[in-house]
Amino acid sequence: TDTVSAEYLASDGDIETSLRPRSLDDFVGQPRVREQLQLVLRGATQRGSAPDHILLSGPPGLGKTSMAMIIAAELGTSLRLTSGPALERAGDLAAMLSNLVEGDVLFIDEIHRMARPAEEMLYLAMEDFRVDVVVGKGPGATSIPLEVAPFTLVGATTRSGALTGPLRDRFGFTAHMDFYETDELRRILLRSARILGVRIDDDAASEIAGRSRGTPRIANRLLRRVRDYAEVRADGLVTLDVARAALTVYDVDELGLDRLDRSVLAALVRSFGGGPVGVSTLAVAVGEEPATVEEVCEPFLVRAGLVARTPRGRMATAAAWEQLGLEPPPEAAA
Ligand code: ADP
Repeated sequence: TDTVSAEYLASDGDIETSLRPRSLDDFVGQPRVREQLQLVLRGATQRGSAPDHILLSGPPGLGKTSMAMIIAAELGTSLRLTSGPALERAGDLAAMLSNLVEGDVLFIDEIHRMARPAEEMLYLAMEDFRVDVVVGKGPGATSIPLEVAPFTLVGATTRSGALTGPLRDRFGFTAHMDFYETDELRRILLRSARILGVRIDDDAASEIAGRSRGTPRIANRLLRRVRDYAEVRADGLVTLDVARAALTVYDVDELGLDRLDRSVLAALVRSFGGGPVGVSTLAVAVGEEPATVEEVCEPFLVRAGLVARTPRGRMATAAAWEQLGLEPPPEAAA
């Protein structure tokens, strides 16, 4: 299977919209991606043409949708949104494509989950700005060519490895989004607090940032939970003490590990003696989709220095054993 559990992909609705960065300058973090994109967009604008198709990859909540919106805004064009799972039949995509206006940005979230016929139609649209719509069935079926206005496709995926070769080859630029540094998350939190009218001091913002799993969406979520606590149990001002007390109530640990991270770690150490073990075996042990463990959980555990990828499988590091209050065995990865 290649589905990521819905809870990890779910957006936070209207609040999320209000907190989205609006321009490249507004976008905190990902300095390399921002610089590269700026060049891609400026180059195209100077030539007066639509930029190459752009692929954004990385775990959920790191700003791929926000970046797609910014790309359209920077180009001064409109964004049309859809997602791989919504494009079940080629006709769904044809309808989307035929509505595009020249220069539009078409955003396809979870593009690796598109159905095959739609994907094949997309190849032609990306390359030649036309599609062949098949009408009818059997020997009487005819194929009607349809012009598509020149557009820029922005695809987002939590799993660039799952993209077929032909699709990947048609993107002129691929940007990989990585987890954010604590200081970047702190700046995102201060900006969100300003927008939401939450009074927060710098130390409190750093504290929440450090427990946000490197993910802006989680940082914004924690900010709202901490605000609830501050308003109900304190005078509304989010101080370091208030933030710590609130995060304890919501069971967010020092590293920001969530329920799944913790169960994967516990299974790795307790059931598999620290590994090495394959990702899918781990996923079965914790009752999760392998894709969720591989695309959401593992990248963060590796980044946090708790899990090491080895040729024989995943291994718990000494830090992981210590995190669970256990003595690391001598063979544990450093
Ligand atoms: P993805 O599409 O990768 O799942 P989104 O673009 O939906 O992520 O981002 C989730 C939320 O996180 C957005 O609502 C936005 O408020 C916030 N966010 C993401 N990246 C940034 C950033 N670089 N600066 C500020 N806020 C961000």
